Amino acid sequence: MKSTRKALRDDDIFKDTYERLNCADCEKVLKTTTDSNAVFDLRTCPECGTEYKDLR
Ligand SMILES: [Zn+2]
Repeated sequence: MKSTRKALRDDDIFKDTYERLNCADCEKVLKTTTDSNAVFDLRTCPECGTEYKDLR
């Protein structure tokens, strides 16, 4: 799984004018899943299901 930082660099995702992360392919806002046991938030595209880890 890629980190959001790397995905932004690779243009897999982009930030919209509201600073939200969007999937570059689907142009959908990524959903955020916060797991209190994990050290990162999970960002998931609701369209293609690609997951990214967002390090806190
Ligand atoms: Zn997508």
